[in-house]
Amino acid sequence: MPIVDVHAHVFNIDDLPIKGFIEAHGWPTWIALLVDKVLQGATGSGSLNALADAGSIDELDEQSDEDIEDLILHILDTTPEILAALQLAIDHDLEQTGQGQMANIADPGPLKSVISNFKNANDLVKWVLLLTKTQKRISRRLVKTYKKIDLFVPMMMDIDGWVDDEAPNSQPHQVAILQNVIDELPGKIHPFIAYDPRRAIKEGVAAALARVDDAIENRGFIGVKLYPPMGYRASNNAEAQPPLVDPEKYDDALRALFSLCVTKGIPITAHCTPKGAEATPGISGQNANPEFWRETLSNSDFSDLHLNLAHFGGIENLIEEGKDSWAWKISAMMKDFANLYADTGHHGVLESDPRDDYFKKLAELFAAYPVLESRFMFGTDWHMLARLDNHRKFLKIYRRHYRRMVDGDTAQQNFLGGNAMRFLGLVKDGRNAQRLATYYATRGLPKPDWLTDIG
Ligand SMILES: [Zn+2]
Repeated sequence: MPIVDVHAHVFNIDDLPIKGFIEAHGWPTWIALLVDKVLQGATGSGSLNALADAGSIDELDEQSDEDIEDLILHILDTTPEILAALQLAIDHDLEQTGQGQMANIADPGPLKSVISNFKNANDLVKWVLLLTKTQKRISRRLVKTYKKIDLFVPMMMDIDGWVDDEAPNSQPHQVAILQNVIDELPGKIHPFIAYDPRRAIKEGVAAALARVDDAIENRGFIGVKLYPPMGYRASNNAEAQPPLVDPEKYDDALRALFSLCVTKGIPITAHCTPKGAEATPGISGQNANPEFWRETLSNSDFSDLHLNLAHFGGIENLIEEGKDSWAWKISAMMKDFANLYADTGHHGVLESDPRDDYFKKLAELFAAYPVLESRFMFGTDWHMLARLDNHRKFLKIYRRHYRRMVDGDTAQQNFLGGNAMRFLGLVKDGRNAQRLATYYATRGLPKPDWLTDIG
């Protein structure tokens, strides 16, 4: 049985509205602006050389925090308009919150202390440097980071409609880039294309679905990614928070997608944590509540829909809420819906705190719902995970702790790949298995072992 990472990312900085994205992650505006101006907006100016000096992707890890600080300072020194923009952003933060990192940075000298005081700024910048590389190099890095993993399933993102910003690379362009990556690393990478109902409404649902269909039928994509924390729900968008204009259009755009996915055997992964990257922090994350999937999955038209609720509600939610957590809700729903899955993306298992608490709670949950053994899937959420120091150990640590909780080789294999292969339709006569067999044949690419083994 292959080992599958059912939830990864290989997008780069030009695939995202980066300022909007970082703000949605709760970083201060001035950090978002620094990253935006320095690494996206200003590439091509003086800062490009500084970036080139930052070395190859493999050298990134060796760079000390001091190197990164020096790089930021160098960029600020040589690009005064960024300094001015930064000052404006900090003033704005001060206005909004009544507090800020410091009131005046007209002199870049003290900036060094600001940056080192901001605990994660260096890690963030290091991570963003990784994101300046091409999708191909980022994908190679992913494959190299987890050598034991046979197949990676990167999720595209499409959040332009929800943040005050726009990604430089259009969605069709991103699909074309990823198809190149698929062909460069045959058998290793098969992505999910993003679908955003707001974009679909704006550009026309038929056109949006045609793009999905083309990616699945002709370009080696194997599923669709949804991101409800931006501000929409799987069903009943009249209740979405914050309120939507024309909510019934969102319901229609999503139902049209679900129909296509059922007809063609296309799995869907939907972000599912109450907190995290929300377009409206503290509010729109609630739209990802597993409850809102109940109506969809109860509809007999959609009972064959393969759905993965990514992150399983998040481990903080499980630790804090116990039996009221989203993980418990999802597990209860798994008993009702045969094609409902969840993944381990970005679970905080790298350090004993909160790992020990988490696995204690997870063991209780598995005892109450043994169905999890056939629905719980391994996924890293790399390169979001790459911001953390020992992210390379994610597979090793998760595997070790899972084995302690659930015994037996079959259970282990299901967790690491078997459940994912079923979710993905990569089984005998599965639609994705058939499509990929055709894809490899038409493009004259070697068929990977995991596909040959399906038979
Ligand atoms: Zn993710």
